[in-house]
Amino acid sequence: MDLREKLGVLADAAKYDVSCSSSGSERNVKEGMIGNTALPGICHSWAADGRCISLLKVLLTNDCIYDCAYCVNRSSSDVKRAEFTPRELVKITMNFYRRNYIEGLFISSAVKYSPDYTMERMIEVVKILRLEEKYNGYIHLKAIPGVDQRLLDEAGLYVDRMSVNLELPTQKSLKLLAPQKDQKEIMLPMHYLRDKLAENKKDLIQFKSAQSFMPAGQTTQMMIGATKDSDFSIISISEQMYDKMRMKRVYYSGYVPIVQDNALLPTTVKSPLLREHRLYQADWLLRFYGFQAGEILSPEQPDLDLEVDPKCNWALKHIEYFPVEVNNAPIEMLLRVPGIGNITARRILQARRFGPVTYEELKKMGVVLKRAQYFILCSGKYYGAIDIDSDKIRNRLLFLDPKAKSINVNQIGLNEYFPTIFN
Ligand code: SF4
Repeated sequence: MDLREKLGVLADAAKYDVSCSSSGSERNVKEGMIGNTALPGICHSWAADGRCISLLKVLLTNDCIYDCAYCVNRSSSDVKRAEFTPRELVKITMNFYRRNYIEGLFISSAVKYSPDYTMERMIEVVKILRLEEKYNGYIHLKAIPGVDQRLLDEAGLYVDRMSVNLELPTQKSLKLLAPQKDQKEIMLPMHYLRDKLAENKKDLIQFKSAQSFMPAGQTTQMMIGATKDSDFSIISISEQMYDKMRMKRVYYSGYVPIVQDNALLPTTVKSPLLREHRLYQADWLLRFYGFQAGEILSPEQPDLDLEVDPKCNWALKHIEYFPVEVNNAPIEMLLRVPGIGNITARRILQARRFGPVTYEELKKMGVVLKRAQYFILCSGKYYGAIDIDSDKIRNRLLFLDPKAKSINVNQIGLNEYFPTIFN
């Protein structure tokens, strides 16, 4: 197989991995080195289906000893197998980088022979890139559960970011679809990397000579829709990932039914991209809006509403907290108003120092009044024009945004719906 053919096989095999955004790393231009991650920075571009395409996203090999039911590369799958030698992958990366095709490398791999063997080969790639080719661009390496800690130590010195896929939200689902994997074993490298990062942070302050250890931190990814796990179980585990593992990001990958297996949902059942999108919105609430998973969903209401975004849904379910007076509400409450985002909440606080904020000024500040009007008072005045009643407001919001109601959830792409989120 020539290099072009290998690239076709191994880049295609990597396309289901979505955890590749590159924010958080600041590797500046260095004399004698090629590339950087800060200037002009890594651009995130997204394919129509929402997947990041700005990096060379590739597997070292798709030859796997495991047999995960949801994976196209599983050992029992009848697909063409290929493997790069480390030098072949270095050659492609450098050629693509020099031609400006890519702005970084996202390297992952199926597990060939053993986790250690595979990880050693991936480390060889990043070491040649950094030490021989003087490549100073972004590298994200997918770590393999079960790998020796010394290999994590070594990899962390050369890459910007590492991630370990959580795969599925519960041990039960993992046992069903990936019986050779174990959630505890997956968590071990996450714990280790979290502790190493904390240690490195201190070292960098104390010692001038300390070497940076994966400066863009760690991320993880969960597949959604391959099992019957609820959105509540998914965002609850995400909350733990942020609170306990100090993850930079949790990615949600809607299951793409490419494999037939009795344990999986039928291949005709597509996980709606809108569900993936709602999970990202809920994730945003966890990270930036002070919400807890238990406030967004509960065992009684375990799945996200596909018609209304999670913040709006929370407000409609807690209508007793509204309307909020924008001229004296604390920031925590402003952040809970649909239509007011993180930036606009801060703008309101700043403007309040100089006098009461008017309804007209809110629009200039970027408040999305078509939603916020039902949840706020401005100097005691309500502009919503309908009663403060959950059902009425919900109907009005859906009427104003009929797209939400008419969405064919199996067809919509993330980009198409993206502008309406997060406020
Ligand atoms: S270990 Fe990874 S590559 Fe191998 S079958 Fe499982 S998901 Fe696929």
